[in-house]
Parts: sequence; structure tokens; C-alpha cells
Amino acid sequence: VRAIRLSATPDAGGSWRLNGTKWNITNAPVADVCLTFARLTNRLSKPVGAFLTDLRTPGVTRSEPFDLMGHRTTPIGALTYENHHVPGENVLGDPRHGLRILDFAFGVERVLTGIGIASCLEAVIDECLRYVHGREAFGHPIGDYQYVQGHIVEMVTGMELLRGASWRAMDALLRGDDGSLLASVVKLHAAETFHRATVNAVRIFGNHGYRRGSLIERFCRDGVGILLAGGTAEIHKNIIWRKLRQRRKDG
Ligand SMILES: Cc1cc2nc3c(=O)[nH]c(=O)nc-3n(C[C@H](O)[C@H](O)[C@H](O)COP(=O)(O)OP(=O)(O)OC[C@H]3O[C@@H](n4cnc5c(N)ncnc54)[C@H](O)[C@@H]3O)c2cc1C
Repeated sequence: VRAIRLSATPDAGGSWRLNGTKWNITNAPVADVCLTFARLTNRLSKPVGAFLTDLRTPGVTRSEPFDLMGHRTTPIGALTYENHHVPGENVLGDPRHGLRILDFAFGVERVLTGIGIASCLEAVIDECLRYVHGREAFGHPIGDYQYVQGHIVEMVTGMELLRGASWRAMDALLRGDDGSLLASVVKLHAAETFHRATVNAVRIFGNHGYRRGSLIERFCRDGVGILLAGGTAEIHKNIIWRKLRQRRKDG
């Protein structure tokens, strides 16, 4: 967030002009509208404002979708704004306080990631359960082997904890409490659990899981992307640590 460089300059009649580029934006190649955060050039402290931009109007160009390892059904690309006009009614709230909107949007996004990833984990678990009962090795279905069972039990444990934490965090956000620590816990746990589960699913499926285009191989590639999308583990650990220090200071 501190690295936001896209600029917003006031224009006639309460409207604004946006200039700069946003990289790695989910759905940028296909979206009609975008919630864009930009630094206000007319204030010394350069606060961040929230602007609803219409990507079908002049002054904004989109890149081709980036060629990524995973997430291949959600195109990701760049948006370049050149003197892009934003009418006053498309500014969300007080333009000096866009960070409050960004914080809330991040919280909701992180928690929804947790809920969505829990469902993806359920699909991985279903596939693994189906496979371990059908595949035989050394005269037994591989589901008879405790090391194999252990992988699936760990996936289920991670999924259930993720669901519980996600609902608790969503409850805090909707009640208007500061749910940012919990939201970061959810995003961190979702990404690490899904990544580990999908790699372990490849172990369970053996060479069948390593074949390009198989469901497990696709999940595994998405499982790497989720380590980055919505903030990396390092950044979420930083947030959690900052919140802990703040709590201690506040008593
Ligand atoms: C599938 C996908 C979808 C995405 N969608 C969006 C989107 O819609 N909108 C959007 O804005 N972005 C989006 N992104 C971008 C994503 O948020 C970034 O890739 C991610 O935040 C990491 O930033 P970076 O790639 O610039 O890496 P860098 O910031 O260069 O980081 C590289 C490494 O250094 C570590 N690092 C950096 N700073 C610190 C620090 N202060 N402390 C500790 N470690 C640090 C990082 O954790 C990482 O391990 C998406 C990415 C992916 C993969």
C-alpha cells in the first residue's frame, strides 16, 4: 500500500485525473469497472483516495493477460491511466480517507479468500478420497496405508480450522470491530494450508498428479499463486506482528 504511485489530480467541477500504471490486477483484461486507489497530488501528505474507474472510457489501456503458472481462468494484467477522467460522483467517500476503504476491502477480500479456499480444499479432499480407495499398490488400496491417510487427515484439519477462523473474522468485520489481525491470520493459513495440501495431493496421486492438465496438477499451480495473491506470508506476518505490538501498547 505504501508503494502506491498512481496519482490523482483534481480537475474542474470536483472531478479528477488519474495517471500511472497498476500491475498484476486480477480481471484487468476483461473488467468494465475497477476500484482504483491513487495518491492525491494536491496534498502535502499525499493521502490515498478511492476512485471507481470506468475501463471502457478514454484514458485507460489494458495489457494482454499475463502468461502465469496458474490461475489460468482468471486473466491478470496491467492497467495504464493517462489523464483518465473520473467524475466527482465516482469518488468513494472522502478522497483523503481512501485507506479506510482499502483496509475494509482488504479485510473482506482476505476472509473471502479463506472461505473460497476452504471449498477448494474440500474438492481436493474429495478427489484424494476417491483416488485412494481405487488405486492399489503392493496388494492394497493406498488408502489402507497410514502415511497416506495422514495426508488427508491433515487436509481436513486445515480446512475445518480455516472455515472456523474465516467465519469468526467475517463476524468481526461485519460488527465493525478491527478484524485485520484475524483477516491476516485467515489469509496466511488459507495460502499455506492450500499450498501444502495440493503438493501432498500430488504425492498421493503419484505420477497421475504430476501430469499436465490433471485436476491435481492444476490445483497445485493455483496453490503457488495463492501464496502471492492477496499478500505474501511475510507481509501478513508483518501485519500480525504490528497488530500484536499495537495491542500491547494500548494495554
Ligand atoms: C494470481 C495473482 C493475482 C493477483 N491479483 C492482484 C490484484 O488484483 N491486485 C493487486 O494489486 N495485486 C495482485 N497481485 C499481486 C500480488 O499482490 C503481489 O504479487 C504480491 O503482493 C507480492 O508482491 P510482488 O510480486 O511485487 O513481490 P515483492 O514485493 O517484490 O516481494 C518479493 C518477496 O519479498 C518479500 N518482501 C517484500 N517486502 C517485504 C517486507 N517488508 N518484509 C518481509 N518480506 C518482504 C515478499 O514477501 C516476497 O517474498 C496478484 C498476484 C497473483 C500471483
